[in-house]
Amino acid sequence: MNFINDIDNMKKCIVENTEYMKSFEGTGDTLRDELKKFNDEILEKRLAMGETLIRLKTKQKRLDQILEMAGNDSDTLQQFEKKYADLNASEAQKRSNIKLTSEYKEFKDELVGNVNASTAIGSNGNMEAEIMEIVETGDTACSMYDPWTKGLMLNPMRNIKCGHHYDRDSVMSVIKNNMSVRCPVVGCATKSYIQPNHLQADLTLQQKINDHKAEQEASLSSEDDED
Ligand SMILES: [Zn+2]
Repeated sequence: MNFINDIDNMKKCIVENTEYMKSFEGTGDTLRDELKKFNDEILEKRLAMGETLIRLKTKQKRLDQILEMAGNDSDTLQQFEKKYADLNASEAQKRSNIKLTSEYKEFKDELVGNVNASTAIGSNGNMEAEIMEIVETGDTACSMYDPWTKGLMLNPMRNIKCGHHYDRDSVMSVIKNNMSVRCPVVGCATKSYIQPNHLQADLTLQQKINDHKAEQEASLSSEDDED
C-alpha cells in the first residue's frame, strides 16, 4: 500500500530532520543555545505531526480491512455496499488514542532520544497502552470467539504475526484452499497472509475458555436444576 509507505517515509523524515537539527546544538555558545531552544519548541509540533500521520495510517489500514471483509462476504454489489456501510459505521464509532499506541511511543522515543523532553506527553502507564492497543485493533486481542464462525473457540490458535486468535478448525479450513487470506480481525495491522507456521496453540486462552464454559454450565445447571 503506497499510502502507508508514504506515511512511514514522512515519519522517518521527521525523525531524521530532528536528529540533523539536534546535531547543531551546543552549549556555551549563545546562538547554538538559541538553536536548542528552537528545537525544543518545535518538538511539540513534530510530535503532533507524527500523531496525525499515525492516525491517517491507522485509518487507511482499517479502510483496507473493511473493504476486504465486505468484499469477501458479499455476492452482489448491494450486499457489498450494505456491508461496507455497516462496517464503516461501526468503525467510525471506535476511537483510539494514538498517543498510547506503541507506534507513537516509538516515534516519540526516536524524536526525544535520550533527552528528557516534554514528559507531559504520553506519560500513561504501560497497562493503559496495552488496553488502548487492543481497542485499536478493533476487537479484544484475546477474544474467546472465532472471527469467522463467531462461535466460542475450541482450540484457539494465536497468529504470531498479530496476536489475534482463531479456532483451529476454522482457520485451517479457511486457509486450506486459499493461500492469500489475511487476518480477518477488523483493524488488524498485519498484512501477511495467514500461514500454518504462523499459528500457535494458545493454551492460556484455551484454559480461559474452558473456565468460561465451566462457569456458564455451572450457572445454567444451578438455574434450572437439571443434569
Ligand atoms: Zn490480526
